[in-house]
Amino acid sequence: MEFSWKEITLTLRYPFILSDSVITEKKVVFAECSAEGLIGIGEAAPSSYYGETPQTVIAVFEKARPILGNIRFPFSVESLNDELLRSFPDAASARSAMVMAVLDWMGKKQNLPLYKLLQIDAAKTPVTSFTIGIDQPEVLAKKISEAENFPILKIKLGKGDYDYEILKTVRRHTGKTLRVDVNEGWNKEEAAKKIDWLSQQNVELVEQPLPKENLDDMIWLHQRSALPVFADENVLTIKDIQSVTECFDGVNIKLDKCGGLLEAVKMIRTARRNSLKVMIGCMIQTSVGTTAMAHLSPLVDYADLDGHLLINNDPYKGFAVDHGRIQLPSLPGIGIH
Ligand SMILES: [Mg+2]
Repeated sequence: MEFSWKEITLTLRYPFILSDSVITEKKVVFAECSAEGLIGIGEAAPSSYYGETPQTVIAVFEKARPILGNIRFPFSVESLNDELLRSFPDAASARSAMVMAVLDWMGKKQNLPLYKLLQIDAAKTPVTSFTIGIDQPEVLAKKISEAENFPILKIKLGKGDYDYEILKTVRRHTGKTLRVDVNEGWNKEEAAKKIDWLSQQNVELVEQPLPKENLDDMIWLHQRSALPVFADENVLTIKDIQSVTECFDGVNIKLDKCGGLLEAVKMIRTARRNSLKVMIGCMIQTSVGTTAMAHLSPLVDYADLDGHLLINNDPYKGFAVDHGRIQLPSLPGIGIH
């Protein structure tokens, strides 16, 4: 199998304002594997917060080239995943792109869409939410009108007292179900007070209210929270699940955190065994990564796969949504074009 890669810069439709940062562009790296006239594509959307950058991803790709180069069909993607995990344990995003590319290739080789290759029932896809980043009231209003096709919105909070203004602005424009993502932006007293208030505002759940270091505070908050609380920054890989069962009601699983599609499937099962609800999410990225993850969506309770909708220059087209509900492509592999 031939293996190559390409870095591209995505430009955001709106500057993305989180509790502690603003970004206007994002670099991703596509992994491409080809053999027998078929090409498989994967995407790494690394984030420096989790210790990976386009440079570290490309460095791993260079080292992994002989491993992928030795593959001949038929082969086990499971074994390849295990070998990559052993060789590059700290490179979740890079591994995710390689496994994704190989699964895309395998789907094309066997003429099966990814969900069928992974034996998932495509009929049970959830609704995906659409993210509204922190912004001025007039921009929030514009974003809400643009999200017309999505019945559930994910609202970013974590800006002190301005959080109340954000939520009130959103509520002036829509009665839709809301999910709130705080990206570690609150302290425990603030979280308790705000969650009480949010529970009166048709909010469904709250993601990562506290800094990831504050697990003791999180146990306290979980016990008194009027809304379900979900871990994002606190849970990267399958190994992190045990440590949060007392702190959260659910986990947000992402390919670039957990190491790829096969790891994500294992993580979904482990979370379920620990009575945790499961959300799947994404980074700011193209349709390659979000569509690949969408194939796992029938296995989970909540989906937040809108990364490709937040950029101007997605080179691909992937899954469609019908009133927010994910429609999986029936083309072989990931099914992007
Ligand atoms: Mg989050």
